[in-house]
Amino acid sequence: MTITSYDVLVIGCGPGGSSAATFLARSGRRVLVLEREIFPRFHIGESLLPCNMSIFREMGVLPTLEAAGFPRKLGAQFELGNASIGTSFVFREGKFNREPEAIQVERATLDHILLKHTRSSGADVREGWIVKQFTSDASGVSVEAADPAGEVHQLRADYLIDASGRGNVTGNQENLKEMHPTWKKMAIFGHFENVWRSAGDSGNDTVIIRLENAWFWLIPLSATKTSVGLVIDKAVLAESGESPADFFQRWTMAQPAIRQRMQHARLLNTLQTTTDFSYYNRKFAGERLLRVGDAAGFLDPIFSAGVFLAMWSGKIAAETVGHSLTQGQPNRRDFQRYEKRVRKGLMFYWNVVQAYYTSPFMELLLQPRPHQDLPSAVIAVLAGELEGGWRLRWRLKYFFLLVKIQKYWPLVPRISFAPRRPKAVNVAPVAVKS
Ligand SMILES: Cc1cc2nc3c(=O)[nH]c(=O)nc-3n(C[C@H](O)[C@H](O)[C@H](O)COP(=O)(O)OP(=O)(O)OC[C@H]3O[C@@H](n4cnc5c(N)ncnc54)[C@H](O)[C@@H]3O)c2cc1C
Repeated sequence: MTITSYDVLVIGCGPGGSSAATFLARSGRRVLVLEREIFPRFHIGESLLPCNMSIFREMGVLPTLEAAGFPRKLGAQFELGNASIGTSFVFREGKFNREPEAIQVERATLDHILLKHTRSSGADVREGWIVKQFTSDASGVSVEAADPAGEVHQLRADYLIDASGRGNVTGNQENLKEMHPTWKKMAIFGHFENVWRSAGDSGNDTVIIRLENAWFWLIPLSATKTSVGLVIDKAVLAESGESPADFFQRWTMAQPAIRQRMQHARLLNTLQTTTDFSYYNRKFAGERLLRVGDAAGFLDPIFSAGVFLAMWSGKIAAETVGHSLTQGQPNRRDFQRYEKRVRKGLMFYWNVVQAYYTSPFMELLLQPRPHQDLPSAVIAVLAGELEGGWRLRWRLKYFFLLVKIQKYWPLVPRISFAPRRPKAVNVAPVAVKS
């Protein structure tokens, strides 16, 4: 057992941990990052938001990401499964978002680049180290962690940043996790080739296909590879009695908007599933502890905000802890401010996602009225403009007022998820066995 001391110890080197650790290391702090996995490793969460780009720029990693050749994401498309209606949003047409585009990424590659950047920024990044538990006292925090050989170490730091993602190390230890009361969702997903894409600039857009109580994502990862996933209620799969692969294949063929895109698709890896991803911890800040990204909370991934929220909160956590380090003691007000600001950001998307599952919201999203720059306000949300100021805030409030009105008096035509009159189709089934 060894004892070593740092300014800050970070659990996990996903996007949240990498952001927090890089900002701290670049400001001269002694930072230790303990990452359970050996990178590169697979991770879901492949569509980024334009606001991510500013954080990459500030971290100094943008040139490396540009050189890596990730597809440029210029917008997002939404369509109903029955192909009756669809619309697209182009980031560069938005008036309230600062960044005009994002990237689509294989997370194995992105996260490995971020980890190496964190290390080259000066942090001591150790892979294959598993954090077991933490304790805190008046002078700092202690973490018990197993090294790759299984030997257990006690490591000491002034502050702890938990960026362990859905591993939720400190939240679980303190029993803080609140699951969403009603969403019992799961995702089935894989990487495919030969998925149909629109021609031109919009070919790299994220495409969301909405069914009545479910949705598909299509995220182009390279010229030939596309990530495709289905988010459904867990109970629906259980009631079907089917395997996830058979269920996925049947649902892919059942709706024209997805069938048309997937009719020649071939699975490149194995289909995976993940469940119960909508939760938050009751506290994001402790005495000498901050939780960032999914270790604070995470919601249904419909708006692709997870990586951005992780890196945004990681950056604010670094500023908060950095300030306390400069002052020589924890600044309680800063920690409270962190709690309030990050919770507000998470809850903002939480509420938008709740609305997304209602028809009036979808009706207005799919038929945006060129009125009071509302389409630009929607684009700003899709771009990750969490703190866009009053001119954005009042428009979003107005948009949600229209959603309420739409529920009783249709301002735009109603949408229907019912199957449309069947057209003659002749498609090969999706090959879901790798
Ligand atoms: C189905 C699905 C689809 C999604 N799609 C998108 C999307 O399109 N776009 C998007 O932005 N987001 C998406 N997300 C969300 C996204 O995956 C996460 O929000 C994002 O990865 C959070 O980053 P993080 O750094 O907080 O956590 P992570 O990326 O999970 O990183 C946490 C790290 O901590 C490490 N760790 C865990 N436990 C320990 C431990 N005990 N000791 C040491 N290390 C540990 C892990 O190995 C991991 O590397 C999706 C999520 C799901 C479930």
